[in-house]
Amino acid sequence: MKAIVATKDHKAAVVEKEFRALQPGEALLDMICCGVCHTDLHVKNADFGDKSGVVLGHEGIGVVKEVAPGVTSLKVGDRASVAWFFEGCGYCEYCTSGRETLCRSVKNAGYTADGGMAYQCIVTADYAVKVPEGLDSAAASSITCAGVTTYKALKESGVRPGEWMLLAGLGGLGNLALQYAKNVFGMKVIAMDINDGQLDFARECGADICVNPLKDDVAAIAMDKVGGCHGAVVTAVNKAAFDTSVNAVRAGGCVVAVGLPVETMDLSIPRLVLDGIRVVGSLVGTRQDLVEAFQFAAEGKVVPKCQMRPMEDINDIFEEMEAGKIRGRMVIDLAH
Ligand SMILES: [Zn+2]
Ligand SMILES: [Zn+2]
Repeated sequence: MKAIVATKDHKAAVVEKEFRALQPGEALLDMICCGVCHTDLHVKNADFGDKSGVVLGHEGIGVVKEVAPGVTSLKVGDRASVAWFFEGCGYCEYCTSGRETLCRSVKNAGYTADGGMAYQCIVTADYAVKVPEGLDSAAASSITCAGVTTYKALKESGVRPGEWMLLAGLGGLGNLALQYAKNVFGMKVIAMDINDGQLDFARECGADICVNPLKDDVAAIAMDKVGGCHGAVVTAVNKAAFDTSVNAVRAGGCVVAVGLPVETMDLSIPRLVLDGIRVVGSLVGTRQDLVEAFQFAAEGKVVPKCQMRPMEDINDIFEEMEAGKIRGRMVIDLAH
């Protein structure tokens, strides 16, 4: 079968890959499509160590072709996901307390397990979340990573309907965060981005206030206009966005970190203590989070922007990603 793998020279290549037999608990998916995420770029560039030979992709959607004997969570014909959270151990303190993505023995698709950018993919059946009827496969692929990540981060913030949320960064993740914040959680939103084009799009999607931090003092505007935000979700990949977010929330506010700049942020200890500010990290989402994130998308409350591309475009897509040229999600078409 054809598959996209990371190579030793930090590229991606379309290769022929051998099948292996299903082991107990596994299912074989005929892949339909798989989104390309910024994390795939890190993996193929060996930013987290050499992973050459692994099949890339953790935004995969496929149809179950076969299940190993005894598998009951999936049946032939179901559509299911190949997500970054590919498998946990199932019995550690994280797996048994609703925090399974923190499992220390976790497997991640397209990183420590072969991922979804292939004609077929073997998944651990109990960990592959079913895609609901009525949700388009390309849209589902974006929800599998970008969607569930932002949905979970908004949940983690504890911000309630009618309260103010600062969304720092309106790119691929932030755009979905905005739709979940407005259309699912009923939050009021301040959208912040250094790109005016993204802000225009945010306005169209219902952002209540849009600010460009290169032109305006976002924290001052948040304090003046709404008395400070109740929470912030930072998907931007720069330290300044994190610092601004801490300054833009009101006492008791929560800043949820999702973007991954390799820097440290400025945190005033008196501000944290005296104003009771919480700063927390949020990593993708659990299987249950994905079930919920899928369902809201199936109801049309969240609509990812996707563009289908052939497998052979993978290196072009990575180049476009590195050049910051991508709007919406590029999705590899694997139906054949
Ligand atoms: Zn991803
Ligand atoms: Zn575990």
